Amino acid sequence: MSARGGGGRVEGKVVLISGGARGQGATHARLLAEHGASVMLGDVLDGEGEETSARLVKDGFDAAYIHLDVTCGPDWRAAIEAVEARFGGLDVLINNAGIGSFGGVEDTTEEEWDHVVAVNQTGVFLGMKYAAPALRRRGGGSIINTSSTMALTATPRSLAYHATKAAIRHMTRSAAMALAPTIRVNCIVPGLVATDFLAGIDQAALENRAQSLPLQRIGRPEEISQAVLFLASDESSYITGSDIVLDGGALAGFAGYKLSPPTAGAED
Ligand code: NAD
Repeated sequence: MSARGGGGRVEGKVVLISGGARGQGATHARLLAEHGASVMLGDVLDGEGEETSARLVKDGFDAAYIHLDVTCGPDWRAAIEAVEARFGGLDVLINNAGIGSFGGVEDTTEEEWDHVVAVNQTGVFLGMKYAAPALRRRGGGSIINTSSTMALTATPRSLAYHATKAAIRHMTRSAAMALAPTIRVNCIVPGLVATDFLAGIDQAALENRAQSLPLQRIGRPEEISQAVLFLASDESSYITGSDIVLDGGALAGFAGYKLSPPTAGAED
């Protein structure tokens, strides 16, 4: 197993990654390429996407970039055609593109709601819909959707984000049943991950939150990519319709629990 040395965990597989220009998508692309995959990055950030792809190619990997707005059916059809033309088929789709939202029930505008649903939820639907025939043409494959711990626990804000990330978890289950046994469909459920996604959040509050986690820190994108690599590889051949939670233990206990040992009799 090594970069270009053969024997990688996804050797010879062709992977399409939405939102691949930066952040977790770019990190997934590099780890998968290091393990022998050819990777097509799709994003709306064309400059960054081209640069990310060029860095991979410069390092000796098989990579390319295509403009892909996940809300747009024709973009998906063109991206799948481009992957098949360039790399000879498609084995893995990583639905990674996503955007945040900050409004609660009363201050979310209808426009914000529609946009977040279009990118986070409709984007995943379109990706699965248009990738499925291509994956079947290859004899099978793996789809990896990106949910969030915000699908499993709520805050008073980010209503549209909570809704769409919860929808992705359940769409994963329905699609896993519909596309079985040829195509496996799973989702990852990250907690806080250090990317530009967290840039708009108050950094002191973020650090405070990180310290309250059992693992006492925010996750690194590379740590999330390890789960993606597993789900993309044949090592996960008996897993479909499932989640992998990567959250530093955030969902393990109730919010606000102090990590320091309780004083005797203080557990109640
Ligand atoms: P990021 O903002 O760095 O990356 C998101 C990518 O999606 C960007 O490259 C962006 O251009 C792309 N994108 C946005 N709209 C798009 C569209 N319409 N079409 C195509 N691409 C589009 O953030 P990230 O942390 O790398 O996010 C990746 C995924 O992980 C997202 O789905 C996000 O919701 C999810 N997630 C992030 C965190 C976190 O704390 N960072 C936690 C849980 C889940």
